Amino acid sequence: MKKAAIVTGASRGIGRAIAATLAREGWGVCINYLERKDAAEELLEQLRAKGCTAIAYQADVAQRAQVAAMVDTVRQELGEIALLVNNAGISYQSLFQDTGDAVWERLLAVNLTGSRNTAMEVLPEMISRKSGSIVNISSMWGLRGASCEVAYAATKAGIVGLTKSLALEVAPSGIRVNCIAPGCIETDMVKVLGEETRRMLVEETPIGRLGTPEDIAALVSFLASEKASFITGQVITADGGFIV
Ligand code: NAP
Repeated sequence: MKKAAIVTGASRGIGRAIAATLAREGWGVCINYLERKDAAEELLEQLRAKGCTAIAYQADVAQRAQVAAMVDTVRQELGEIALLVNNAGISYQSLFQDTGDAVWERLLAVNLTGSRNTAMEVLPEMISRKSGSIVNISSMWGLRGASCEVAYAATKAGIVGLTKSLALEVAPSGIRVNCIAPGCIETDMVKVLGEETRRMLVEETPIGRLGTPEDIAALVSFLASEKASFITGQVITADGGFIV
């Protein structure tokens, strides 16, 4: 019997690559998305055509009730949930003092509370089985700080604290919690910054290129595997040397 993995924000970008990689490796995957049903269903069809097991599910991770309903459906349709990947996230660029309450609260709700909501819903089952793993997607900006992205960087730093503290709390229950801090990855999130900024980011990345969603998916795959069974509470940076 395949084990189930929930990947939040899996319709596009990094989450999409994570979902595809895990499905190919034999996980039953829930492709969570917010608005882009077309993109989620296109991925679902691709994966099913390759013989993978997957479902697509619309839920706003910021809404606890929607997350609870998603987790129930995944349990019914895919079985035991052994992996949660908290990838869904939004970014926003503005001076700190121009960042209004609504933007600040939405970034916190999606990026930080979203990861809390999903973990709250999957943990009871993981604790009772004494196994499972959670991988949270932070950002290198959450480690080094980012001018004009204070709200975003604060939520991503919060994910680091969530990861380390939760890892300590649930390790005795046989559950591992780790975190990935990607550098600049070629997705829509970077595309909106424009070509000039993209070029500067490539120049600032010692390895000389932006990362691919597959670079991050490979790391999730490792952290979710038995090969990482002694690794918990860690923040692993994958940024081409940006913040060495
Ligand atoms: P992206 O291309 O903009 O995709 C974002 C994904 O999150 C989409 O699938 C979107 O769904 C989903 N989403 C947004 N809000 C959601 C919500 N409230 N509930 C459920 N799903 C939601 O972003 P990305 O670049 O792949 O980033 C993925 C993660 O990596 C984020 O947490 C981001 O902060 C982090 N990260 C990215 C970079 C980078 O350079 N790209 C660097 C460091 C960290 P829809 O398609 O339905 O809108």
